[in-house]
Amino acid sequence: MATRIDGKAVSAKVRDEVAKEVAALKEQGLCPGLAVVIVGDDPASRIYVNNKKKACQATGIYSEEYALPAETTQEELLALVDKLNHKGDIHGILVQSPLPKGLDEAAVVEAIDPKKDVDAFHAYNVGKIMLGDYHFLPCTPAGIMELLKAYDISVEGKRCVVIGRSNIVGKPMAMLLLHQNGTVTVCHSRTKNLPEITRQAEILVSAVGKSRFVTADMVQPGAVVIDVGMNRDENGKLCGDVDFAQVEPIASYITPVPGGVGPMTIAMLLKNTVTAAKLQSQLG
Ligand code: NAP
Repeated sequence: MATRIDGKAVSAKVRDEVAKEVAALKEQGLCPGLAVVIVGDDPASRIYVNNKKKACQATGIYSEEYALPAETTQEELLALVDKLNHKGDIHGILVQSPLPKGLDEAAVVEAIDPKKDVDAFHAYNVGKIMLGDYHFLPCTPAGIMELLKAYDISVEGKRCVVIGRSNIVGKPMAMLLLHQNGTVTVCHSRTKNLPEITRQAEILVSAVGKSRFVTADMVQPGAVVIDVGMNRDENGKLCGDVDFAQVEPIASYITPVPGGVGPMTIAMLLKNTVTAAKLQSQLG
């Protein structure tokens, strides 16, 4: 039976460290600040934004919320980003995705000052990550690396398979595993013989977005299984990509959903905000 990787416990530890660092920075006259921008009234986005604000409060990070109506124009949104880029008490800017139809998300991300890009989605930061010389890492893949570290799971020399190639999860995840000397294969919707490839994985990361997508026949006995998926099952219950009941008995480690990767994402956002504040104030 696999060991369940406890994302709540690991994220609590990261948040503790962040809170201590924030307190120390405040003594030096620096209070890290995060601006969260939400456009429209997507209920899931509202929950994410509320959770981010609460996490800031709990760790002493100053936060501002900008809730804009769904009719906001591209120009208005870009003007707000420009204002935040120049605001001295704001060190990190996060524009909650997805934006309402008609707004160009890529252009908004590119308008964020890379030094304040705590999501690490700006092309400058993506390039730095590719080069292995970075300040920020995208929160979800960074959170996964933190989980592996917390459980002493070495990546070096391991066969790693990532299912999914999105810019926010799959691609940066593959890059981080590569930086840690994993041998990495990235699979996607056009991959042929997917189970044959995933069965070779010693570390399998699934970021697909389909419930019960990863079944036991796709998993090598003893594999470490990381489930990024956040899906709803037929009863509306939150679940991952992995058929947990089938896979838990054969894996060595597994992340549950909820309580695995999810809690790490916000913890890493807080960490990135502190890094951004230090960079901008020369305390880094
Ligand atoms: P995405 O942009 O929709 O990407 C999904 C990826 O899965 C794509 O690369 C797609 O391939 C691939 N895929 C789809 N069907 C497939 C199939 N049948 N076989 C193999 N690959 C297939 O999603 P995302 O933003 O990366 O998110 C993935 C999941 O993680 C979602 O459930 C999301 O909610 C969750 N998520 C969780 C967190 C967290 O904090 N826990 C953070 C971010 C995302 P193509 O590229 O060929 O289309």
